Amino acid sequence: MTFSVHGLAVSRGIAIGRAVLVASSRIDVVHYFIDASKVREEITRVRVSRDAVMEEITRLQHDLPKDAPHEIAALLDVQLMLLQDEQLISGVKHWIAGRHYNAEWALTTQYDTIARQFDEMEDEYLRERKADLAQVVERILRHMKGVASPVQAAVRAGSSRKQSQDLLLDDTMDVPLVLVAHDISPADMLQFKRSLFAGFATDVGGKTSHTAIVARSMDIPAVVGARSASQLIKQDDWVIIDGDAGVLIVDPSPIILAEYGFKQRQGELERERLNRLKHTLAVTLDGQPIELLANIEMPDDTLGAVKVGAVGVGLFRSEFLFMGRSGKLPDENEQYLAYRKAVEGMQGLPVTIRTVDIGSDKPLDKLAGKAQDRHLNPALGLRAIRWCLADPPMFLTQLRAILRAAAHGHVNLLVPMLAHGSEIRQTLALIGQARAQLDKKGLAYGPVRLGAMIEIPAAALSVNLFLRYFDFLSIGTNDLIQYTLAIDRADELVAHLYDPCHPAVLRLIADTIAECQRQGKAVSVCGEMAGDVSMTRLLLGLGLRSFSMHPSQILAVKQQVLRSDTGKLALWAAEVLASEDPAALLQA
Ligand code: PEP
Ligand code: MG
Repeated sequence: MTFSVHGLAVSRGIAIGRAVLVASSRIDVVHYFIDASKVREEITRVRVSRDAVMEEITRLQHDLPKDAPHEIAALLDVQLMLLQDEQLISGVKHWIAGRHYNAEWALTTQYDTIARQFDEMEDEYLRERKADLAQVVERILRHMKGVASPVQAAVRAGSSRKQSQDLLLDDTMDVPLVLVAHDISPADMLQFKRSLFAGFATDVGGKTSHTAIVARSMDIPAVVGARSASQLIKQDDWVIIDGDAGVLIVDPSPIILAEYGFKQRQGELERERLNRLKHTLAVTLDGQPIELLANIEMPDDTLGAVKVGAVGVGLFRSEFLFMGRSGKLPDENEQYLAYRKAVEGMQGLPVTIRTVDIGSDKPLDKLAGKAQDRHLNPALGLRAIRWCLADPPMFLTQLRAILRAAAHGHVNLLVPMLAHGSEIRQTLALIGQARAQLDKKGLAYGPVRLGAMIEIPAAALSVNLFLRYFDFLSIGTNDLIQYTLAIDRADELVAHLYDPCHPAVLRLIADTIAECQRQGKAVSVCGEMAGDVSMTRLLLGLGLRSFSMHPSQILAVKQQVLRSDTGKLALWAAEVLASEDPAALLQA
C-alpha cells in the first residue's frame, strides 16, 4: 500500500528505486561495494569470524564453573544456536553475492532483517532473543574489525563511477537503488560517493548537516529528517525520493510512478539546458564579473569542479581526509600528496584548503564521535581550530603538508572557527613554525594567502581585528546561522527555526562584506547559502562578488548571475536588510 513520509528537502531532484537499508550498529561499521571477484573472499571473512566466535562461546561453556547459574549456560546455548542459524548465514551470503555489500554491511543488514521478524513475534520469549542476536552479531563484527579488508583500500583509492555502476547492476536486479538509513556518518557518505545510489533518505539531520551537504555535493536527490523512515521502509521496497518537496513515497501506485517519472525527465531537460552555460563567463547585466568557486571534500572532486567551469576551489574541507580511519590520522606525506593532487587537478586555478574542521557532527570516526558526545555540547566544544590548537604536533603536520603543496600551484590557507585574537596569533605563530621546520628539513614550500572563516557571531562582530591579520575572509553561513540563532544545524526537530533570512544573520553577513569592501580585502561566502539560487540576488545586492558552492550548483547560480543587475539589486537588498520579514520580500 502506498504511503508517504515527510522530511526536509536537502538535495534537489527525483529518484526512483528500490530501498537499501543501512542498519545502525553500535559498532563502527564501514559500508562499501566489493568487486565481483571478491565475493568468495568476503563470505570467507564472515565465516572465519563466525567460527572464531563459536569457538569462543564453546570454550566459555566448557570453562563454566559447576555452580554457575543455569541461565548462563542456557544463554550460551541460544547464542550458539543463533550463530548456526540458516537464515543468518544464507542472508549474509545473499547480500554479499547478490548485492556485493562488504561483509560487515551484509551482516548488519541481515541482522536488521531478522530483528524485525523478532519484533513481530507474539511470543515474548522469542521476541527477547533479538538482544541475543545483537550480541552475537556484535561479537562477529568485533572479530572482523582489525582484519582489514583488501577491497576496502581499493574502494578508498577511488574505483571509478563506471566500475561502481557495474557493481550495483548485479545479476539479481538491475534497477536503481536508494539508500535509507537512520543516519549516515559523513565518512560513510564519502564511501557512498563512489557508488551509484540514485538517492538518499535519513531519519535525522538538518538542511546543513554534513550528511546533507555531502548528498548535495553528489548532486543526487536527498531527504533528511524523515523521522521514522528507516523503520517504516523495508529492504527492497520501491521508494520515490522527492528531493524538491522533501517527501518519500513508498510502494507507489503505477499512476504516481508515471507522474514522478515525468517530473524526473523534466529535471534532466533542465540540467541539459544549464549545461550550455558551462563556458559562459559569469558576468552580471551591468558588467560585474562574479567569481564562482567550488567546494570539495576530496582531491578527485576537482574533476567535477573543472567540468562545470569553476574558477577555483573556494573550500576544500580537508577533514574528510581524516575521518573514518579509526582515529589513525593521515601523516604529512599522505596529506601533502592529497593537497598536491587537488592543486594539480585545478590546473593552475587557486585552491583554498581549509585546515581540519573535526568535531561536532564531523567526528573522526563513530567511536571517537561517541567520546566527543560525552561532552555536553560538541558544537560548542573542542572543534576545528580549537582542536588543532590543543594538539600542535597534529596541526603542524597539516600546515607543513599544505605549505609543501603550495609549491605546486596557487594555494590559499583558510582557518575555521576562529573567534579570539589569541587564537589568531597562535595560529599564525604555528604557520611560522611550520615554515621554519620545512626550512630546517630543506623541503620546498610555496607562498600562501591566509584567510579566516567568519562563522561565529563574535568573529563577524570583530571583522576589523581579522582583517589586520588575514588576506581574505570566507563567510561560513552554515555555522554562522547555527551560532547566531542557537539552532543545532543537524537537529531536524528545530530545523524550522534555522533561518538564513533572519535579520540578525543578514546583518552580520552584510556588515562583513561591507567592511571587506571598504578595506579592499577579498571576501567570499562558502556556506550552503552561496549555492542556493533563491539567495543569489540578495547576496549580489549586499555586494558579494565571490561565491563558493558544490560544483553541481555552479551552473544554476551562474544563470541567476547572468540575469542580475547589481546596481538595482543593491537598492533592493538595502530594503530587505531593513525589513522585519526579509523572507517575505525575498519571495516577492
Ligand atoms: C560553514 O559553516 O558555512 C562552512 C562552510 O563550514 P562547514 O559547513 O564545513 O562547517
Ligand atoms: Mg563551518
